Amino acid sequence: MNYSEIAELQKKAFLKGVNRSYDARKKHLRNLKKLVLENEHLLIDALNSDFGKPYSEAYITEIFLVLQEIETQLKHLRSWMKPDTVNPTVTTFPSKNFINKQPYGTVLIIGAWNYPVHLTLLPLAGALAAGNMVVIKPSELTQEVSGLLNRLVQKYFDPEVVTVIEGGPEETANLLQQPFDKFFFTGSPRVGKIVMKAAAEKLIPVTLELGGKSPVIIHEDAPLETTAKRVWLGKCANAGQTCIAPDFVLIHKKLEKAFIEQSREALKQFFSDDFIPGENYTRIINHQHFDRLVKLLEKSEVLFGGASNRENRFIEPALIRAGWDDEIMQDEIFGPLLPMITYKDVNEVIHELQKRPAPLALYIFTNDEDLQQRVMDEVPFGGGCINEAPFHTFNPALPFGGAGNSGIGSYHGKYSFDAFSRKQSILKKPFWPDTDIRYMPYDDTKIAWFKRLFS
Ligand code: NAD
Repeated sequence: MNYSEIAELQKKAFLKGVNRSYDARKKHLRNLKKLVLENEHLLIDALNSDFGKPYSEAYITEIFLVLQEIETQLKHLRSWMKPDTVNPTVTTFPSKNFINKQPYGTVLIIGAWNYPVHLTLLPLAGALAAGNMVVIKPSELTQEVSGLLNRLVQKYFDPEVVTVIEGGPEETANLLQQPFDKFFFTGSPRVGKIVMKAAAEKLIPVTLELGGKSPVIIHEDAPLETTAKRVWLGKCANAGQTCIAPDFVLIHKKLEKAFIEQSREALKQFFSDDFIPGENYTRIINHQHFDRLVKLLEKSEVLFGGASNRENRFIEPALIRAGWDDEIMQDEIFGPLLPMITYKDVNEVIHELQKRPAPLALYIFTNDEDLQQRVMDEVPFGGGCINEAPFHTFNPALPFGGAGNSGIGSYHGKYSFDAFSRKQSILKKPFWPDTDIRYMPYDDTKIAWFKRLFS
C-alpha cells in the first residue's frame, strides 16, 4: 500500500467508527499493552543493538514509562470520554450545554531517535485513547527499533487502526502531504518548522515536542553531594542524549571547587570508573554526532573526563569550564558534556537566560523559595524541577511540553488525551418553552432587557 492508500484506509475506518466506542478504545489500548509486555526483551535488545542502551535504562525510560502511560489512559478513559457539562446562561436558558471530546480522526506521529520506543508508543496510547487512527513514523537513525516496531504493530493492530511507516526526511516529507487531521512531532526545532509549515497548508493542529539548552542553576545554599548526583544522573542517562538532560550548569562562584569534587564522586559512585558501553552506559548514536561532540571537547577547557573511542562511539562524561560565548554554549549539546559557568549575582543568570530561546526544561537547586519563584516567573521554559533533574517527565499528571523554541502543546496522561481530542461545544434546547423575546424584530423593549443584564 502506498501512503495515500494508507491514509485513505484509516480515514474510512475512522468514519466507520472503528475506534469510536469505549470498548474499542479499551481493546486497542490493551493490545498496545500486550505488544509492550510480550516483546519487552525484543524491544530492549533492539535499543541495545541500535546504540547500546543498557538494559536498566531501556527498561525504566522506555518500557516502564510507556506501560505507565497506557495504564493511566486505561484507568481514566471512561471519565475522560464523558462530555463536560456546563451551566446555561440567562440568554441560553433553558438548555443543556456540554462539551464533547471528539477524536481528530487520523494522526501522524513522527518520532525522534533518542527514545525511539517511548517517543512513538507513549503518544500512541493517548491518540488511541482519544479515538484516533494512527500512522507512526519512527526515526531512521534507530533502524532495529523502527523495523521491530513495524513488525510488532502489524502483528497486534489492523493497519486501519495503527500503521508504522519507516523512512527518513524524504518519506516524512511525503507523509506530511497526506490528508492527516493532526501532526504530533518530536524532534529538532529545525524540522519542527517543516512540520508546522505542512500543517499550516492543511490548517490542521500540531503538537511540537522540540529541544533546547536546558539550564541547571545551582545556588549558593545547595547541598552539593545530592545536587551533583541528581545533575549527573540526568546528564549520564542515555549518555546525555536526552531532550531534557541538564545541558549546562550555572553555579555560584563559591561552590565551583566543591562541585567539581562532588561531580567526580557522583560519577565514581555510578560507574566505579568503569564505563562499559552497552552495559552500563549508552553509545553516541552515530559517528556524525560522535565527531561533533569530540570537536566541542577539543575546543573546551575540560576539567575532567571526556575520554573517547570512535570505534565503539563512546564518550566519557566530561565537566567543562565555560563562558556564555563559547561554542559549546550555542546549540543543544545532546551528549555527555557538561559546561559549567560560574556567577556571583543570580540576577545576571536570570538576565542571560531571558536573552536566550526558551528551553524545554530548567532545574534549580536551592531552598530559597523567593528565588525559586522568581526563576519560574521570570525565565520562560517548558517545565522542570526544583532540587531534582529531570524527573518531572515521570509523572503523567504533569503536562510535558516546551515553550517558544522548545515546542508547542503538551502531552502525557490527561494532556495526551486532550492533545488528540477536539472540543465540540453543544447547546441542546427543548422545544418548549418558546418565548417571543428571542425572535426578531428586536425592538427597544427587547434591547432594554439585554442592557439591564450588565448595567
Ligand atoms: P530530527 O528533527 O532530526 O528528526 C526527528 C524526525 O524528523 C525523525 O523521524 C526524522 O526522520 C524526521 N526528519 C528529519 N529531517 C527531516 C526533514 N528534513 N523533513 C521531514 N522530516 C525530517 O531530530 P532527532 O535528531 O531525531 O532528535 C533530536 C532532537 O529532538 C533534539 O533537538 C531533542 O531535544 C529533540 N527531542 C525532543 C523531545 C521532546 O519530548 N520534546 C524528545 C526527544 C528529542
